Amino acid sequence: MFSSKIKGSFLLVVSIILLLAGNRATAAEIVKITSIQHVYMDKEFIGSVTDETEIEKLVSEKVSEAESEYPEYTFDEEAQMTLVRENVFNAEIDEKQTMEELEDEFTVKATAFEIIIDNQVVSYVPTKKDAKEVLKKINLLYMDEEELAEYESNQEAGVLEQPGSLKEKGSRILSIEYTVPVTWKETTVEPDKLMTVNEAISLIEKGKKEEVTYEASGEEELEMVADRYDMKLEQLIKLNPGLEEGNRIGEGQKVQVMEIMPYVDVVVEREVLKETVIPFERKVIRDKNLQKGESVVEQEGREGVQSFTYKVTETNGEKITETIVKKEITEHKQKQVIRKGTKIIPSEGSGTFAWPADGGYISSKQGHRWGKLHKGIDIARPTSRTIKATDHGVVEFAGNSGGYGNKVTINHNNGYKTNYAHLESINIEAGQKIEKGMKIGSMGSTGNSTGIHLHFEVYKNGVLANPLDYISQ
Ligand SMILES: [Zn+2]
Repeated sequence: MFSSKIKGSFLLVVSIILLLAGNRATAAEIVKITSIQHVYMDKEFIGSVTDETEIEKLVSEKVSEAESEYPEYTFDEEAQMTLVRENVFNAEIDEKQTMEELEDEFTVKATAFEIIIDNQVVSYVPTKKDAKEVLKKINLLYMDEEELAEYESNQEAGVLEQPGSLKEKGSRILSIEYTVPVTWKETTVEPDKLMTVNEAISLIEKGKKEEVTYEASGEEELEMVADRYDMKLEQLIKLNPGLEEGNRIGEGQKVQVMEIMPYVDVVVEREVLKETVIPFERKVIRDKNLQKGESVVEQEGREGVQSFTYKVTETNGEKITETIVKKEITEHKQKQVIRKGTKIIPSEGSGTFAWPADGGYISSKQGHRWGKLHKGIDIARPTSRTIKATDHGVVEFAGNSGGYGNKVTINHNNGYKTNYAHLESINIEAGQKIEKGMKIGSMGSTGNSTGIHLHFEVYKNGVLANPLDYISQ
């Protein structure tokens, strides 16, 4: 069960050669050879035995105990101690004492993986998978999982980045480096020294205490220095023989303190993409064909995008350097073009009237008709149904008005008012300023009407006038 080393046979051969060469002893003495086992634990010699059965039993029992106490760990019986076989003459060994020694010294060790940072064992975890997880989680203290996974898969594929990924995520890792070597190795350890991955990580995250020199920048009490480094005063005094409680240190005086330092600095180089918006300009074109106060967007404005690529170096998540490596405009801006009206419409009429329809003819004049006064003129059979304002003015009425049907009244503010009746639809509203010739509605046959036509009336200072004194075909 226990492997004996080749050393035993080698010793035997050497012994026989020595005997044959120089020793005058008899043949009877030569054959008195005993095979023994030297017992080593952690390379330390415990004692020797002639029969290893007792040891095997002891180890088996202890391992069984450990297995039931720590069912989650692995215990390898053969790895618990080393037996080295040797053939000796006239063996004088105290087996009882060896066994007693073993009973005292023997502690079962579990299979472990030690996490080694800067050649120093920081913790033990039970499996290789855990060891790898610890190393990964050291990285994850300073980056997120997705980012690390992408970096690792890119490394494997031998590419810098997946197309478009930098733009999408805004950042990618270029390199991850440790300031000291970080590695793991298989070993064995007392089971109570094993940690979970999270325990190991929080230990590493916490950092280690390291002795450093502190130089006072002014007079200080020792207690303040101890407080600053989260130390007890006694600890500080112990580190600095010659200092006593109640002492003060002066400017420039150096004392040894324990400072918490990270086990390892993780240096991450990243490429970071940042985008900034470039505002667009506005251009205003003054348009004399457009009424003042009105504006039309001729071209929509669009913001541009400028992207900056930075190279950022971080140590333990803290930004150390940042340099711009690339600057480019990824989207061009577009100017906004607005037409602004400058035309001023007078609210007062010009005094001359324009034909209120698009072509057509006078189908009925002003006068008495069937015993009733026909107050205006009728215009029918136009080219289009557009009804236009005869002069500048302000809409006084726009809506339905009994026998007039849909009617518009414009006050020209110069003593004249005009009525437009039987409209199919009205395009303007009361209070609106109207320019001469502007469309106010469509010709129709609403109200008391026998066909599509415009009924047009003119009033001068409140008195009905004859439209034909003002307009002609
Ligand atoms: Zn009429």
